[in-house]
Amino acid sequence: MRLSRYFLPVLKETPAEAQIVSHRYMLRAGMIKQASAGIYSWLPLGYKVLRKIENIIHEEQARAGHIPMLMPTIQSADLWRESGRYDAYGAEMLRITDRHDRDMLYTPTAEELITDIFRANVSSYRDLPLTMYQIQWKFRDEIRPRFGVMRGREFYMKDGYNFDLTKEDALHAYNRHLVSYLRTYERMGLQAIPMRADSGPIGGDDTHEFLVLAETGESEVFYDSEITELKFGDRAIDYDSVEQCQAVLEEFTSRYARTDETHDEAVFNQVPEARRRTARGIEVGQIFYFGTKYSEAMGATVSDKDGNQVPVHMGSHGIGVSRLLGAIIEASHDDRGIIWPEGVTPFHCGIVNLKTGDAEADAACDKIHAALIALGLDPLYDDTNERAGAKFATMDLIGLPWRITVGPRGLKNGVVELTSRRTGESEELPPEAAVAKIA
Ligand code: ATP
Ligand code: MG
Ligand code: MG
Ligand code: MG
Repeated sequence: MRLSRYFLPVLKETPAEAQIVSHRYMLRAGMIKQASAGIYSWLPLGYKVLRKIENIIHEEQARAGHIPMLMPTIQSADLWRESGRYDAYGAEMLRITDRHDRDMLYTPTAEELITDIFRANVSSYRDLPLTMYQIQWKFRDEIRPRFGVMRGREFYMKDGYNFDLTKEDALHAYNRHLVSYLRTYERMGLQAIPMRADSGPIGGDDTHEFLVLAETGESEVFYDSEITELKFGDRAIDYDSVEQCQAVLEEFTSRYARTDETHDEAVFNQVPEARRRTARGIEVGQIFYFGTKYSEAMGATVSDKDGNQVPVHMGSHGIGVSRLLGAIIEASHDDRGIIWPEGVTPFHCGIVNLKTGDAEADAACDKIHAALIALGLDPLYDDTNERAGAKFATMDLIGLPWRITVGPRGLKNGVVELTSRRTGESEELPPEAAVAKIA
């Protein structure tokens, strides 16, 4: 992509309304624009990262055997009256009346909707287990939308729902989600720690939140520092294996790690003092097992082996897709801008032409640009007439992992400069070698 043909409305000034670094950088890098309180347009650069994050989630859900689908953003209130949540949900629910005076709402979460789909179509234990998910916009009329996409009113969320015959099967689904989430966050360059949490309005027994440690996080967290040494890595996992998934759950949840809602000082004090940590965290996901709460209220039953009608065991599992952009930036930046992890970077590499208009520099940049594209990579080529300093500042701000700097002086010696955004280290090498290094 040539920057001269792209839409990247970079801001030089720090917007006054942005209190935290991720919000500041997302605005300055032209990734989002506020449409109204807690509601954002996703400009091309932000949209690209959103799609990358979404794709990682889809890939990891597919690996776990979960099925993608899509439900509407606007629902009828009737299903929520059946579950009893229409009144219970409170002011966070955006309620809408249509022209026929019917009560509608903008989906804050979709347990009712999916349970309705399930009960209309599934009647036998033979069709279980079943886990479906969607990545769809949600709306919650948050009392204090803030920090940009971190706490929006409209936000993008992955929500998955499992239907199982027994509690044991549903807990296996829970564990499968835990494993797939660990993999998902690691691929985004994040450490998200599963912490024991409170089930809140969804209701239920087993629940973990995934928290990214960050000073600007809204949750207070307490944990055993040993937990930060755990990594899922690229180990093989058989998602159908109850034992393997259970072992991962035990490994990642046996040490003390809780949010303020479930924190227990007496239990925490059993952790050796040197390992006790109090910090702040960003909730980037949550998994729940809630048993038959919705299936009983809404009549989602199947016939079991003996022909008895039994309510299915369910859980729901969410990832804050749009919030993740903020969380990744909070976890990976410096005072010049964002540092994208390779897995989610909007472009793989930036090309800076130090002397646009110079025939040799232009030709060299064109060649590098084409070579990277031919390798299946996605470069951003700054072919504008800005001065070099401004081009560097923009590249640093938008945080691409690599920058290739091309100028007449280097070309005389047959070299360009390759710079790593993360380490700041540069080396001079022939253009082909620079391309090969990125690929
Ligand atoms: P929070 O405690 O931050 O209000 P929640 O517990 O109400 O979040 P869940 O119902 O667990 O949210 O939704 C799943 C995920 O969706 C959360 O883990 C979070 O990452 C994301 N999320 C929830 N509310 C928002 C919001 N207002 N803006 C952006 N992301 C959100
Ligand atoms: Mg909330
Ligand atoms: Mg929460
Ligand atoms: Mg939650």
